[in-house]
Amino acid sequence: MNNLASFSAPKITVVGTGYLGATHAISMAVLGFDVLGFDVDHHKIAQLRTGKVPFFEPGLPEKLEEALASGRLHFTTNMDKVAGFGDVHFVCVGTPQSADSTAANLSYVDAAFSELAARITRKALLVGKSTVPIGTAARLTQMVQDISPLGPELELAWNPEFLREGFAVQDTLHPDRLVFGVASEWAEAMLRRTFLPLLDEGIPLIVADLATAELVKVAANSFLATKISFINAMAEVCECTSADVSLLAQALSLDSRIGGRFLKPGLGFGGGCLPKDIRAFKHRAEELGVGQAVRFLGEVDSINNRRRVRTVDLIRELAGGDLTGVRVAALGAAFKPNSDDVRDAPALDVARLLYMEGAVVTVYDPEANANAHRLYPDLNYVGSLAEAADQADVVALLTEWEEFRQADPNSLGARVRHRRILDGRHALDPDRYTSKGWEYRALGRPYQPAVRVRQNVEKPATQLPL
Ligand code: NAD
Repeated sequence: MNNLASFSAPKITVVGTGYLGATHAISMAVLGFDVLGFDVDHHKIAQLRTGKVPFFEPGLPEKLEEALASGRLHFTTNMDKVAGFGDVHFVCVGTPQSADSTAANLSYVDAAFSELAARITRKALLVGKSTVPIGTAARLTQMVQDISPLGPELELAWNPEFLREGFAVQDTLHPDRLVFGVASEWAEAMLRRTFLPLLDEGIPLIVADLATAELVKVAANSFLATKISFINAMAEVCECTSADVSLLAQALSLDSRIGGRFLKPGLGFGGGCLPKDIRAFKHRAEELGVGQAVRFLGEVDSINNRRRVRTVDLIRELAGGDLTGVRVAALGAAFKPNSDDVRDAPALDVARLLYMEGAVVTVYDPEANANAHRLYPDLNYVGSLAEAADQADVVALLTEWEEFRQADPNSLGARVRHRRILDGRHALDPDRYTSKGWEYRALGRPYQPAVRVRQNVEKPATQLPL
């Protein structure tokens, strides 16, 4: 696309300033654009205005400070101002699972686009970044052009987002790729101008139609979820043999066609994206009459959920067969380390299931205690690993924070009532624990891994975070 110089830098708005939108707004301002962020949540906007990121994301507070100091980033709760300000409007609102089905709830997306469309009075580009079912962008195009006084002058594009919580700054400023779903050359040119700083860095770009752009996102998440559930299905097989899924994963990961990322066995995936995205995709495929093509995603989901139940089984076994009154130190509540996001978090689900069986559960997460408490106020929450371990009958590592990986088995052992540990994330070296008298259990590993093969592998398989 030539002649980008003829486009001046667009003014940008970001509608919805949650995990995705706040990161996007801050990053675009850091890249040099004038940005106005908007949310219906007044508290969130008040926090952002005063330089406080409303959630835990490493590196983002510093970027917010930088962006606010530059004078290029502002926040508002006034939609009229948003409509008047922007040349390119990014919609980043939530698309959670519906209350009564596995479909995506598109009411927030519909509201955001229609509110914008009713107010915009000059040519502008509306860009969806939320994860949506295929066909949403085409439907919204019709909707906004019907509502807007501009009619077809108001254009819509889709720019799916692939950032990982915990690495959101890096992923936004240096993504693996950009995907533009567009319906006109003008929309493509506007997006190219908007992402010029990244394109100049050589970030690969795929320009596609709207439906393909929507599909890239859900297909990517489906692939990642499938890979995680694949190794967890192998863990289930290992559990009824003497095989060790940890060694299996290492061996598989050394096959360059397979690779080790997302092949780490454990408690499985969660969070505000993967679980609801695969369910919504399956639901949408069924509506489109191609349900058979992605029916396997139902299995992927089931395997993932069974890991939670199996984790509780192992903790019960460690406790001697009955969880009533057993004190469990639940290490972690967030769906993954370096995040405070507890949406569909496996760790918290396990804590809840243990509680329902009569265990006395004490939860410690370095960042997610407050969010977890809002969701499950009946569990005990403490502010340190040591407090969680006090007089515990079983320690359960459920989210692999570095603090838990680095814990000293001896000092931990001095606090507990029984040295029993469930490693729900294959994050610990079993020998470090068993040599200090701990009973160690992990999903998919033989109960007594005495004869673990010492291979000539310099580095164990690693899994980069979700
Ligand atoms: P979130 O819940 O953190 O944020 C959504 C925000 O939208 C909230 O602040 C909410 O108040 C706001 N909102 C709701 N209705 C609104 C409206 N009408 N106008 C303005 N604001 C409104 O959710 P999130 O994690 O940021 O996810 C947002 C979307 O991005 C989802 O579709 C998600 O699947 C997708 N996504 C998220 C991530 C991630 O890592 N969190 C990564 C890629 C894609």
